[in-house]
Amino acid sequence: MAAVSQCCALLLASWTLSPLVSLPSSSGPYHDTLASFWSAQEASLQPACVFSPTDASHVSTALAILSSHTDCQFAIKSHGHAPAAGFANVADGVTIDLSSLNSVQVNVDASIVRVGAGASWLEVYQELDTHRVAVAGGRNGGVGVGGLLLGGGISYFGPRVGWACDAVDSFQVVLAGGQTVTASQRQHPDLFRALKGGGNNLGVVTSADLRSFPQGDILAGTLAHNISDREAVFKAIADLASAKDYDEYASIVLSVNFSPSSRTWTLSEVPVYTKPELRPQVYAPLFAVPNTTDSLHITNLSTYANESPIPQLGFVFYTGTYAATQETLSTVFDVANKTLMGFEQPEGMLLWSVAFEPLPTKFTQRAHNTGGNVLGTQPSDGNAFIVLMSATFANPDANNEVEGLSKELMKNINEETRKRGLLHQFQYSNYADPSQDPIGSYGAENVDSIRRASKKYDPNNVFQKQVPGGFKLV
Ligand SMILES: Cc1cc2nc3c(=O)[nH]c(=O)nc-3n(C[C@H](O)[C@H](O)[C@H](O)COP(=O)(O)OP(=O)(O)OC[C@H]3O[C@@H](n4cnc5c(N)ncnc54)[C@H](O)[C@@H]3O)c2cc1C
Repeated sequence: MAAVSQCCALLLASWTLSPLVSLPSSSGPYHDTLASFWSAQEASLQPACVFSPTDASHVSTALAILSSHTDCQFAIKSHGHAPAAGFANVADGVTIDLSSLNSVQVNVDASIVRVGAGASWLEVYQELDTHRVAVAGGRNGGVGVGGLLLGGGISYFGPRVGWACDAVDSFQVVLAGGQTVTASQRQHPDLFRALKGGGNNLGVVTSADLRSFPQGDILAGTLAHNISDREAVFKAIADLASAKDYDEYASIVLSVNFSPSSRTWTLSEVPVYTKPELRPQVYAPLFAVPNTTDSLHITNLSTYANESPIPQLGFVFYTGTYAATQETLSTVFDVANKTLMGFEQPEGMLLWSVAFEPLPTKFTQRAHNTGGNVLGTQPSDGNAFIVLMSATFANPDANNEVEGLSKELMKNINEETRKRGLLHQFQYSNYADPSQDPIGSYGAENVDSIRRASKKYDPNNVFQKQVPGGFKLV
């Protein structure tokens, strides 16, 4: 039998922690954690052990132990949806799987919801739908509370509440040495602000109090259009995304998808409306374009977020932000078409997708009065589209090749959009590739404030040195 790593042995030596530590040789939690990662690359890393706390005090005890042994590397996992290998898992280290910290507690008047950082958004919505309230969170129910909030968070409610992190009232955080603090506008406001975009650089968040709002049913579903009708669709969506008075109930994702096997494109949209209206006026120009699919229907958040699980595959994400114009949509499509048609496709390549998500000024102005965030997005940047480029592949050995092709595709897109004055600075960390620098894209002042918070709350740089995964302060 392989020797137990020293760091795992330290946790096993603690009477309270030992039942929560699982080794590769054991059946159960260790393998459940690996199976729960969304991407095959992340699941392929073999930690020395998995530590599965069921209470914030367990996190505190474990951090006190791990941080006092500087050669112990660890990873922090909520729901494991960051695709890049090593973001929430660590080969030969300790992977802290927070998914048992998944409680959802609604206060007396249902205005504040305390969610465990390891809950999935589906677990949150399933509880909240029974109270007819909602919070801003992930659109896919499998995504975790922790990663989404600490990177910002795009929800269906962005134009109403801003980034999901802007709707956080307070975080409970375990600092490197094991001390537990509350970060809010009133307590440790510098830490509070830095966490909202600062990822795993400052501490382990164990729960968040979220401001909720009354919410009934919503309009959701998919529209598909012929790719030959794309300019009409692009115009409808660019007009919506750049409207002077953006309809704050509208939340749409436009995707252009390239099939490497047939070398053809498809065009689809998910036009959500956060009121139970089947044909809202804001989407009238989109409805006027003849479609090939229309599955729009009235539903509720938890039903719609409950997507069917998909097998663990290889995924590469890349991001960029661009002006919300029809020219952006046409330019990105044309460059992607030319680039992807020219690629020799790796074996097992399944899909290339470029998704556009409006980031209107109505969205970016919401950070005011809520303690701010460090993302650096502001109304003066103008209306924008956040792009998520994703590449899906079945052959895990193709990772480096797909990564290289993705980089080339995004380089071509950015060169052309920069030339045309359409490229913005912001890179959304939750959609970024490890080779990108989303934290740097927040701007020098914001990077400085994360750095100051890191110095103050993690003076020994534990989260920089012992937690290799995620976007680090450089
Ligand atoms: C299918 C799918 C749908 C998505 N939908 C959306 C969406 O609607 N809106 C959106 O904005 N994004 C979306 N994303 C992106 C998503 O926000 C990021 O992948 C996010 O990082 C996932 O969070 P997680 O907790 O599941 O991930 P994890 O992989 O567990 O964590 C991601 C990162 O956050 C850190 N982290 C997690 N929890 C904590 C914690 N408690 N304390 C400190 N650090 C922590 C981890 O160390 C890691 O570096 C989606 C991604 C996928 C794959």
